[in-house]
Amino acid sequence: MIKLAELIAGKFDLKETMEILEKIFVTYKVKPKVRWNTRTDRFANYDVDNNTMYVSKKLNKDLKEFLHTILHETKHAIDAKKMGKKKFIKAYEIEQNMIAQGHYKDKHDPYSDNKFEEAAEKFAKKNLKHWKKALSKSKQMRF
Ligand SMILES: [Zn+2]
Repeated sequence: MIKLAELIAGKFDLKETMEILEKIFVTYKVKPKVRWNTRTDRFANYDVDNNTMYVSKKLNKDLKEFLHTILHETKHAIDAKKMGKKKFIKAYEIEQNMIAQGHYKDKHDPYSDNKFEEAAEKFAKKNLKHWKKALSKSKQMRF
């Protein structure tokens, strides 16, 4: 019986995916550890305390979604490195509390309206095209 390789983004095996992650991290000068999981509710998440990126093998079947999430989480790693772990966590929590307590007129959701989440989304959107293009090309060349 043929055991099918677990593919990420529909086409990369785990080793290739690891290389892609390394390439992204090197580009933005961060060094998170990578751990695979089988979550079905999140593509990936970044644990600031352990500087670890958890990536779902189960959920990441689409290149665009995969890259968007990785870039989003990478932005958190960049912020954590820039500000220092503790300061970043503190600033994030303060922002959450400010929103929850109604200090911003237009912000209601402590998560999605959080300025760090907004920055991560913006960063992911801005950089997505570049990586999508680079990876589509590299895969074509290999086969
Ligand atoms: Zn986030």
